[in-house]
Amino acid sequence: MPEQAKIQNEAPLYIKVSAKDNVAIIVNSGGLAKGCIFACGLELRDGIPQGHKVALTDLEQDEPIIRYGEVIGYAAGPIPKGSWVKEELVRLPSPPQLDELPIANQVPLPLPPLEGYTFEGYRNEDGSVGTKNILGITTSVQCVAGVLDYAVKMIKEQLLPHYQNVEDVVALTHNYGCGVAINAPDAIIPIRTIQNIATNPNFGGEVLVVGLGCEKLIPERLLTDGDSANIVSLQDHHGFMSMIQSIMNLAEQKLIKLNRRHRVTCPVSDLVVGLQCGGSDAFSGVTANPAVGFAADLLVQAGATVLFSEVTEVRDAVHLLTPRAINQEVGQALIQEMKWYDNYLEKGQADRSANPSPGNKRGGLVNVVEKSLGSIIKSGSSPIVGVLSPGEKATQKGLVFAATPASDFVCGTLQLASGVNMQVFTTGRGTPYGLAMAPVIKVATRNSLTEQWHDLIDVNAGTIATGEATIEEVGWGIFHMILAVASGKKKTWADHWGLRNALCLFNPAPVT
Ligand code: CA
Repeated sequence: MPEQAKIQNEAPLYIKVSAKDNVAIIVNSGGLAKGCIFACGLELRDGIPQGHKVALTDLEQDEPIIRYGEVIGYAAGPIPKGSWVKEELVRLPSPPQLDELPIANQVPLPLPPLEGYTFEGYRNEDGSVGTKNILGITTSVQCVAGVLDYAVKMIKEQLLPHYQNVEDVVALTHNYGCGVAINAPDAIIPIRTIQNIATNPNFGGEVLVVGLGCEKLIPERLLTDGDSANIVSLQDHHGFMSMIQSIMNLAEQKLIKLNRRHRVTCPVSDLVVGLQCGGSDAFSGVTANPAVGFAADLLVQAGATVLFSEVTEVRDAVHLLTPRAINQEVGQALIQEMKWYDNYLEKGQADRSANPSPGNKRGGLVNVVEKSLGSIIKSGSSPIVGVLSPGEKATQKGLVFAATPASDFVCGTLQLASGVNMQVFTTGRGTPYGLAMAPVIKVATRNSLTEQWHDLIDVNAGTIATGEATIEEVGWGIFHMILAVASGKKKTWADHWGLRNALCLFNPAPVT
């Protein structure tokens, strides 16, 4: 492992993000030993693992602990300079009060337009553009999943080879449809998620529904054109093979249409890119997320739609986002989504300390405030022009907040419903996350993860921490990677290996 050895031999290094910070994170792979002395003269009083924090000054009890120029907590006791600022030494501050937030008072000026970039995509009749050409088969209830999986296997073996322009056939199976309180107010979330995923741009507008016949979510609700010829209802069939044949017949009609799709040159403004992070560490906010934020700005400058999400990782930093809302209405919508989620967590008697995960903590993140500050950086610096409730379809260009849980697979599913034709996913601890429905570009926060998972990570942002590359350089790299992947010219590692996470619906309504 030459890279790791090289870094270990290098001088002790820490990253301080803002001039106001009184803590910094340790860069060196493998961490640093007690007694280590930095170039500035700071001496470590404790051994500190990589990504964990060192106190840069003597901190009194109750003194604010500052990272990213913001308060991430208060000292639970005296913390001498050079000490390891462990989780138990950091008292969690109260979340920002939602009724007192400044709105639209620091709207960033629009960035200059970025011209001259295009990608090769599949243009759909409704004007949306796919980055893949996939037959997606929707389902109205989980009961049909096994039958559909069998049918998809047959379609792939017997039909797909005759339709060279179609890349894949995907069963859009999920755990909803029956045994649920379908008229409960919050049931709209899983229902519109299934409806909107069926029309994701990567499926070319071809909707085919497999249903059972007695489920609560009637298949007709999932059709865009109301044409019941696009439904296969299993209870109408005599025997298993009749079901399979019926699904295959309809699938072939769709394959014929999808096979006529060809890639054409499209402006970057046709991209709808979802951003999220999973398995964050203390580097997320200084390497991968700022680089993705830079790429997000480039996409917005080129006219694209960029979605960022994950309410629980935005909540504690929302006071930094509401000033960027383009107007009062958008700011209020953002606050409304935070309130809805506060209430949702309260009903479940969960509190925000349920996030971060144990792995996040091992990666150096002491609490949700520090995680949030590092997370929102991936939204870049443009104005927030819109807010979507979970599973709503994006209809505007620019930077949009799409409210979702932070759970990777639930967020990914909701972003697919919002119409993303591509995702960019940052990871510090490492996750092999992938989707069948859209390409996922994975960006690592550390050199050591990129080396460890050399055949799973698409972009290394760890070079920012070691000073080998700048945020701008890695950001441009991500932007170019997005265009290449969207054009089908470059495959993500997740697509190379065929790594597919299941659709996981967000259903805040009762299950009966
Ligand atoms: Ca996540």
